[in-house]
Amino acid sequence: MLYLDNSATTQLYPEVKDAMLPYLMEEYGNPSSKYYSVAENAKAAVKQARNHVASLLGCEDSEIIFTSGSTESNNMVIKGVADQYPHVGNHIITTKVEHPSVLETCKYLEEKGYKLTYLDVDQYGRIDVQQLEEEISDQTILVSIIWGNNELGSLNPIKEVAEICRENNVFMHTDATQIIGKVGIELSEYPGITFLSCSAHKFHGPKGIGVTFIKKDQYGIPTKITPLLHGGGQEQGIRSGTLAVQNIVGMGKAAEITSERIVENQRKLSELENYLTQILKNKFGNQILFNNDVKNKIPGIISIQFSGVNNELLVKSLSPVIAASTGSACSSSKPSHVLKSIGLDIQQIRSTLRFSLSPLINQNDLQIFQQL
Ligand code: PLP
Repeated sequence: MLYLDNSATTQLYPEVKDAMLPYLMEEYGNPSSKYYSVAENAKAAVKQARNHVASLLGCEDSEIIFTSGSTESNNMVIKGVADQYPHVGNHIITTKVEHPSVLETCKYLEEKGYKLTYLDVDQYGRIDVQQLEEEISDQTILVSIIWGNNELGSLNPIKEVAEICRENNVFMHTDATQIIGKVGIELSEYPGITFLSCSAHKFHGPKGIGVTFIKKDQYGIPTKITPLLHGGGQEQGIRSGTLAVQNIVGMGKAAEITSERIVENQRKLSELENYLTQILKNKFGNQILFNNDVKNKIPGIISIQFSGVNNELLVKSLSPVIAASTGSACSSSKPSHVLKSIGLDIQQIRSTLRFSLSPLINQNDLQIFQQL
């Protein structure tokens, strides 16, 4: 079976599995313990992994907080800022096309009395920076904008967003879950970004581990958020709980490999995307319509309407040979809010399929589409 659902999750790099195994077996120490070897080894492994993730993101090691993944990181930042800065304001700006872990957290806060603005998007799911600028007020405590969309691949103008936030002295968060490993980032070039979320399993690391980047100082003061989890004070007191050493080591290894291969992977994914696009155009002609833009996007994510076809039936019928998706993995039973936000009607949404590629496949693998 050809796996083309890499936006849902990815296969582990074999090197990641090998790096993790000792920490599931003989190196089982708790990194918060002291003086004896298995604890010190675990601590050293976490330190190294933190350094690999920080290098991948272009930030300092101390700005990396390990979490269970992007869902937790998104919750941590949005709830944590809302709780920490009520004296500054109660207004949060986000978009209509965020992942549910952002949208549902925002709805929760809205029910608690916070004021939320959900920015509109264009036909490819990108925000208008002018609208963002107009919405920022002296009550705004956080702007949370997805970097790259999980259903369409479109990249938001994050540089401009970060600049607007900086000019207005407002904290900015970005959900970067989908771009890591596919688009190179260097956080030191984005001084306006205060927080970022990502998950290891989207770039060939293990599931259940992710990171929140928290910029040490923003606008001249140390960045503070209220913890989601209180307890033993791990992760600088921001995320308590015994560290999942084997997962952290796996994320570190995936980050190290990703840093080495990012340019090659980006090129490979673009080539594969162009190749698959051409095959599909040749085969299906005007029976298909592409929802995604061709430029300024995460390479390797394609969203297509197959006119007159039910996407669930199509995914099922393809499943023995190709694994594809009717949308995002987490909300595939509901019509996609992302596709709705770009103006698609229910018929068009119900006929849309997403293919998300991996640098671990090649053009020969995609020949399978010729046989459909
Ligand atoms: N944000 C985006 C854009 C995603 O695509 C996902 C997962 O699909 C998440 C957040 C949540 O990540 P996780 O399920 O690893 O917590």
